Amino acid sequence: MPLSPDQIAEIEALRATPRPTLRAVSEGMEAHLYLAHQVLDHGFVRVIDYMGDDAAIVQAARVSYGRGTKAVQNDEGLIRYLMRHWHSTPFEMCEIKLHVKLPVFVARQWIRHRTANVNEYSARYSILDREFYIPAPEQLAAQSTVNNQGRGAVLSGPEAAKVLEILKRDAAQCYDDYEAMLSQDGQQGLARELARMNLPANIYTQWYWKTDLHNLFHFLRLRADAHAQYEIRVYAEAIAACVKDWVPAAYAAFEDYRMGGVTLSGKAVEVLKRRLAGETVTQEASGMNKGEWREFTALWGES
Ligand SMILES: Cc1cc2nc3c(=O)[nH]c(=O)nc-3n(C[C@H](O)[C@H](O)[C@H](O)COP(=O)(O)OP(=O)(O)OC[C@H]3O[C@@H](n4cnc5c(N)ncnc54)[C@H](O)[C@@H]3O)c2cc1C
Repeated sequence: MPLSPDQIAEIEALRATPRPTLRAVSEGMEAHLYLAHQVLDHGFVRVIDYMGDDAAIVQAARVSYGRGTKAVQNDEGLIRYLMRHWHSTPFEMCEIKLHVKLPVFVARQWIRHRTANVNEYSARYSILDREFYIPAPEQLAAQSTVNNQGRGAVLSGPEAAKVLEILKRDAAQCYDDYEAMLSQDGQQGLARELARMNLPANIYTQWYWKTDLHNLFHFLRLRADAHAQYEIRVYAEAIAACVKDWVPAAYAAFEDYRMGGVTLSGKAVEVLKRRLAGETVTQEASGMNKGEWREFTALWGES
């Protein structure tokens, strides 16, 4: 686990001092609170705080005075209705604050999600740790031949060994140079804000990241998807596992309508209607271009 014994002791101390509260509590989320879920070789995701639960979504939707709950079944039905009809603001009533440790190149993808509040570890103020992401052998893959934004077959043999050696050597060399430039031993020592510029993008950074459930679902929809890069997808999957325990009804609706569902264009709906009526519709006759047709027919494994 990428935590020091002192950090583990701090987390345990926090978990050992529960306090009574009048606020909404999600038992599922309480089990995750403060704990670090390891991601990649040195990274993690920790839930630092959260606000609301499934009932809070229902409560906001009904603008109710109490918990808003009539019956669990009704609540689930309402949550599914809200998700189905893109009625997003009730989901914004739930908030989550995460502590994430992640490689800088993953952080660059993550930070594109603008609808969050972020506070990052300052490498102007502090010295970064000697921690670099080195992919596991099964993640060392060649450029994909079918997707310009993806990876293909796993590298093997001497090529894989050479790549790993280069990654480890360059990381070590850059960090040695970082320390040499910072050193005040017989010299002034370069400022931390400048010395960091020579570090590679696989060095780890950390941040606190706070967002609401609606925007978190949007993040998860994009980043837990098979098309997302593996290194950010594993973070999204770790977060998704916490969200599932936090708001089980909302997560089930999200899984069904967003992760498992698809959006069909008007042309696609028309083709489906014609097919259901027994007509054979080709791509040329569908009004869809080749890419649209490929994605449409791939939905049920037709090539
Ligand atoms: C598989 C994949 C590949 C990608 N490839 C690239 C790439 O090659 N190059 C690249 O640059 N990016 C790329 N991205 C990033 C992508 O374009 C988005 O920037 C990123 O996914 C964040 O999405 P978002 O803007 O919807 O999220 P958020 O920033 O969280 O915004 C959520 C929603 O809020 C609204 N919103 C937020 N801010 C504004 C605003 N200022 N004005 C208007 N509406 C706003 C929009 O409706 C937006 O959809 C990729 C993303 C994925 C998942």
